[in-house]
Amino acid sequence: MDLVRTDFYLDGRWAPADGGQPLEVHNPTTEEVVGAVPAGTADDVDRAVAAARAAFDGWAATDPADRAAHLDRLHAELTARAYDIARTVVLELGTPLKVATRVQTGLPLTVLRGYVDLAARPPAPQAVGNSLVVREPVGVVGAITPWNYPLHQIVAKLAPALAAGCTVVLKPSELTPLTAYLLFDAIHSAGLPPGVVNLVTGTGPVVGEAIAGHPDVDLVSFTGSTATGRRIAHLAADRIARVALELGGKSANVILDDADLATAVKVGVGNAFLNSGQTCTAWTRMLVQRARYDEALDLAAKAAEGYHLGDPLDPGTRLGPLVSAQQRERVRKHITRGLADGGRLIAGGPDAPVPQQGWFVAPTVIADVDPDSALAQEEVFGPVLAVIPVDDDDHAVAVANNSRYGLAGAVWSGDEERALRVARRLRTGAVDINGAPFNPMAPFGGYKQSGLGRELGHHGLEEFCEVKAIQR
Ligand code: NAD
Repeated sequence: MDLVRTDFYLDGRWAPADGGQPLEVHNPTTEEVVGAVPAGTADDVDRAVAAARAAFDGWAATDPADRAAHLDRLHAELTARAYDIARTVVLELGTPLKVATRVQTGLPLTVLRGYVDLAARPPAPQAVGNSLVVREPVGVVGAITPWNYPLHQIVAKLAPALAAGCTVVLKPSELTPLTAYLLFDAIHSAGLPPGVVNLVTGTGPVVGEAIAGHPDVDLVSFTGSTATGRRIAHLAADRIARVALELGGKSANVILDDADLATAVKVGVGNAFLNSGQTCTAWTRMLVQRARYDEALDLAAKAAEGYHLGDPLDPGTRLGPLVSAQQRERVRKHITRGLADGGRLIAGGPDAPVPQQGWFVAPTVIADVDPDSALAQEEVFGPVLAVIPVDDDDHAVAVANNSRYGLAGAVWSGDEERALRVARRLRTGAVDINGAPFNPMAPFGGYKQSGLGRELGHHGLEEFCEVKAIQR
């Protein structure tokens, strides 16, 4: 694996960057520099957008079966690189190898497979009175992605965009760009037509803003923080470009008094700590009805103890480091503030032992968290669970909805109808009842400040389509 990359991918070939200071990539477990990628400029974005624009008409007119065949070849090329991809995610993000294999690599492969099928069966034109309603690709897509699921976040945009007939310019996160290079190695081997997919690495303020503000980008598809999403929406607003935003979350795991408590707490803690808590859908607020509250705290403390910190390549490790030193400091500050605001520490904490080297934070559970406090309101993005007591179903719904976010959530109850009633009242884009599995074909996205639009499945494909009415 080549971990020092000096090229962008433009118009179907590797194109050397013009020089300038490369961006270093760190291993969060060892704190060492392990690779580097070029820092792009607005000129590089211009070149990438020009290539995508030139390729658009041809790709949009390509037979859906041919587009599906291209995606199928890409799936095969990525599958052949699955081991290298998982190892690269471990290297640049610190995710334990098992999770890097199953989730970070396995999930995007499943998503891509789904879009091979959807690309081959585009939505049929609909007759509405004297109109024929057809869907057409939106155009050139600027995709800007975060570091927490470096392959999945890209594939969740790239696959539906290509299936719909759009062309793409991608800027991956500068913290985890090496995984994106493996994807582009696969794209190159799969022989996608020149210009259909282009890669420019660099920082958000330079490359990200150049994409979001580019007059020839028709849709900006962004996943990342709410603050950056707001900035991107402003940039796109100047030319009324479309935006799709997948942003932050502060999801509630609602545990009702008739739940299977042992399972609800165990799965809930696991969800909150997945990928060291660096997951936008993490159930970071656990709401427990008072009758079962103390019991739940005992279970949560015991579950947290089982999350061994360590080398992500060690099979016994359940929790790796955070992505950066800055992220570790941010998370520590959230914990300290949560305790100062009246939270009661029941596991972990800012001073709990962690490996000396690496950007680790101990798995932390804080009880009695005030629903209005910063710890209950702000996204922490670390292994920190806030537990909040609630009186009854109505109170649970009110506390769960007391958030500017609305991305995911969960309800646990022995009575599925009761759980469903509560799930329907949560103002959030997804709710899992009693630990139901993630469905990669279901729409994914947020209410409120968690975003605009939906990814995955056919809803995700619709994001990349314009709708045209032809009257006859
Ligand atoms: P971030 O917003 O800092 O960065 C995301 C991407 O935007 C990166 O590629 C970055 O370089 C780029 N960027 C930064 N500033 C920019 C600017 N001014 N203009 C254009 N692009 C810019 O987010 P992050 O720290 O990489 O990721 C963590 C955040 O992402 C969390 O808030 C998390 O909840 C969110 N997230 C959301 C989802 C979702 O699907 N809803 C998924 C994963 C992560």
